[in-house]
Amino acid sequence: METKAENYASELIERQWLSNKSFEITLSKPTSFEYMPGQCIRLVHDAIERDYSLVTTPTDPNLALCIRNIEGGILTSGLSSAPVGSRLNFNGPHGYFTFRPSTRPAVFVATGTGSAPFVSMARSGVTGFTLLHGVSSAADMYYASVFQSTAENYIPCLSETGKSSHEFFQGRVTDYLDKNLTAGRYDFYLCGRREMIRDVTFLVDERFPGSFIYTEVFY
Ligand SMILES: Cc1cc2nc3c(=O)[nH]c(=O)nc-3n(C[C@H](O)[C@H](O)[C@H](O)COP(=O)(O)OP(=O)(O)OC[C@H]3O[C@@H](n4cnc5c(N)ncnc54)[C@H](O)[C@@H]3O)c2cc1C
Repeated sequence: METKAENYASELIERQWLSNKSFEITLSKPTSFEYMPGQCIRLVHDAIERDYSLVTTPTDPNLALCIRNIEGGILTSGLSSAPVGSRLNFNGPHGYFTFRPSTRPAVFVATGTGSAPFVSMARSGVTGFTLLHGVSSAADMYYASVFQSTAENYIPCLSETGKSSHEFFQGRVTDYLDKNLTAGRYDFYLCGRREMIRDVTFLVDERFPGSFIYTEVFY
């Protein structure tokens, strides 16, 4: 589907805290707005623009975003406290970080809110993937139920030390890939911190030659 970015006005319908650091906001969906799972919108406020991936599906009645509340962050500090009913302007859809079916197994790798585009893909019917979700604490394993019901392997990777559980891998996503992913050719989808994307790209070049890599850098 070809989608052209346009300007839209929407309204803040709800805010739900997913952990002490991250929240989900639900926005009204303008009737003519269309997007593909994995795409993002660009919120515009007082000439400040920030991109956010949609966690909803194209057929959902509303739009939702999963946002990390950055201490001192220009836009997120306002979004974390804006009253329900606030007007939010955005343009979009933007981006090409969409699922491309292939014969190679898909490995999704996210850090923090970088799991957002994968939530939209999974809710839209993508299944059978491996998802590594790098989080600093167990409280940030949000959307676990979505991934538990759609992924072939859902592996939260917890960097916080001193914790152990059969529910997550203790260590970074790169440690998991290095130690546990069987040699082969994969389609890697990487989303989140620039450093994670760089480190995984080096690892893939070394350990999984012939694989494809798709990336979305959040910060
Ligand atoms: C294509 C794209 C999609 C994005 N989708 C999302 C999304 O779905 N959810 C989301 O939370 N963010 C997302 N981001 C990041 C988002 O656009 C903003 O950069 C972020 O919300 C900070 O904005 P701010 O104005 O509050 O912070 P600023 O005042 O701009 O301060 C930014 C500071 O926060 C750091 N930072 C930015 N994002 C993060 C983060 N997620 N975690 C930790 N530190 C961060 C930056 O390195 C910088 O130091 C996306 C970015 C891009 C480019």
